[in-house]
Amino acid sequence: MKKMRLKWLGTRLTFMVIADANSKVVRFRLPVWTFLAAGLGLSLLIYFTMSFYNGQIRTTDQKEKLEGELSTQNLKYTLTVSEKNETIEHLQNDLIRLSQQADEVKAKIAELKKLEDEMKSLTGGVAMDSSSSVVIASAAPGVGGESRSVTNADMDGLVHNMESDFANLGAEMTGLFGSLTQTKQLVVEAQHQLAITPTIWPVSSRLISSGFGTRVDPFTFLPSFHNGIDIAGKLNDPVWATADGKVVSVGWDSTGGNNIIIEHTSELRTRYMHLNKFSVSKGDIVKKGQQIGLMGSTGRSTGYHVHYGVIKNGVTIDPRPYLKASRKED
Ligand SMILES: [Zn+2]
Repeated sequence: MKKMRLKWLGTRLTFMVIADANSKVVRFRLPVWTFLAAGLGLSLLIYFTMSFYNGQIRTTDQKEKLEGELSTQNLKYTLTVSEKNETIEHLQNDLIRLSQQADEVKAKIAELKKLEDEMKSLTGGVAMDSSSSVVIASAAPGVGGESRSVTNADMDGLVHNMESDFANLGAEMTGLFGSLTQTKQLVVEAQHQLAITPTIWPVSSRLISSGFGTRVDPFTFLPSFHNGIDIAGKLNDPVWATADGKVVSVGWDSTGGNNIIIEHTSELRTRYMHLNKFSVSKGDIVKKGQQIGLMGSTGRSTGYHVHYGVIKNGVTIDPRPYLKASRKED
């Protein structure tokens, strides 16, 4: 069987080619296997061509797919970058706002310091050295003139300035707290000093019937020294302590009649004479403006009045400088 087939492959086929009626006939003979070989060759050629073509198509597809992916990625990156740029812009604006706020806080602290200086001067304390006050730098970069977008250097500068600003503000605030605490102590001390210093009139009347110093005595009509001031009023007008203190004497004598002595400090006392009635007892602690008695005409007196005396270190002095204010409820 095998030999038969191989023999068949060797069989030659004759071909005649006639171009036209007058031309010579071209004959040629070819064995069968050449056709088989040619067919196989053609098939292979077609197969490889198709394969190559398919390959080309796949490559193009992949290329297009890759390009598509790339452009999508690109778009994503562009979006991300623009988002980041927006975020950076927001942050920069926040930073500028913060720096402006720092300037506002600086200005407020400067105002506080000024206020504190005023408070100190009110209490009689020494005002702070003004050279330590804050100099306000102008805020808002880019106001007027040319305008350009900020650079990293600009922002770095701003951040650097803000850092030192906030560090300074922290130090200034700490200083201010310490200084305010001192001022508060000064105020408390000043309030205490004010409370224990006679400053108010002892009665509501402002009618001085006799001043401090040399005068003609109303009883003897001879020159004499008057060691207080007489303020005339009505019977039972309230008489008030002119400062915080301790009642050290409540009594009667032929000159002062019913009289009270209040000690305010170790060196300062006030005396109230010719009272009709007492409202306090010896040893009482009294507040400035508190009623201590009622106006009368007891002792060496010609009419309803209070004799008000101020005694400093045992010596009677002119009370006028101490009559500065009215009682609060007046
Ligand atoms: Zn008098």
